[in-house]
Amino acid sequence: MRFLKEREQIVEYGKKMSAAGLSKGTSGNLSIYIPSEGLMVISPSGVGYFETTPEDVVVMDLEGNVVEGNCKPSSEFGLHSAFYKNRSDVQAVVHTHSTYCTTFACLRKPISAVHYVIASAATDEVQCSDYATFGTEELAENVIGTCGKANAVLLANHGLVTCGVNMAKAFGLASNMEFVAEMQWRTLSVGTPVVLPEDEIANVMERFKSYGQPKKVQEAGAPGGY
Ligand code: 13P
Ligand code: ZN
Repeated sequence: MRFLKEREQIVEYGKKMSAAGLSKGTSGNLSIYIPSEGLMVISPSGVGYFETTPEDVVVMDLEGNVVEGNCKPSSEFGLHSAFYKNRSDVQAVVHTHSTYCTTFACLRKPISAVHYVIASAATDEVQCSDYATFGTEELAENVIGTCGKANAVLLANHGLVTCGVNMAKAFGLASNMEFVAEMQWRTLSVGTPVVLPEDEIANVMERFKSYGQPKKVQEAGAPGGY
C-alpha cells in the first residue's frame, strides 16, 4: 500500500476533527498532497471518522482519477485538487462544517480580526465565497478564487476550508478559525467587537514566524506554531 504515513495522518486527523466537534457526522473532509508524485490522499466519502481505516483512504491524481483505493473518494475531491493546482505552498487541505464558521458562512459574512489569532490565516479578514452546490466544479472555482493567498475561506451556506504546508498546520488553522468565529459571534451577541487594524495583523503575522518551537520541528508536523 502506497503512502501509508499520509493515509495514517488522514485517519488520525479525521478523528481529531470529529472529537474536537469541528465536524458532525461524516461532514467535512481532509487531504494531503505528495508533490513529487503529483498525487493526493483524501478521506473517503460518507465514512465515519472513527470507522475510517488507512485502506479506506483514496489516492487520486489532480484530474479526478482514482489511482489506488477501494472506497469512493470525498465528493469534494475537486475542491481539494483546486488548492494543489493553484497553490504551490499548500500540501494539506481541511474542510469542516464547524458551527461558528458555518454560522457566518450562512450569513455570508466574513470573519473579521476580532482576535489576533486570525493572522494565522495569513489575512486580516476571512472571506466568504459565493454559493455553489457541494461537490461541484463551480464550488471549487468559487472557493479557490475567493481564497486568493489566504489560508482560510468560508463557503456560503456550507462551511470552512483551510490549507497549510502540512496537516498539523491546516488542522490547527481550522480549529483557530472556529475560535475566532466563536469570538465574533459572542461579541456581536452582547455588543460591538473591536476589530484590529490591518497593520496590527501584519505585525502579528511577523511575530508568528518565530512563535513556538523552531521551524524544523514544526515542519515535521509538530504543533506549537501558527
Ligand atoms: P464527503 O463525505 O463526500 O467528503 O462530503 C462531506 C462534505 O462535507 C461535502 O461538502
Ligand atoms: Zn462540506
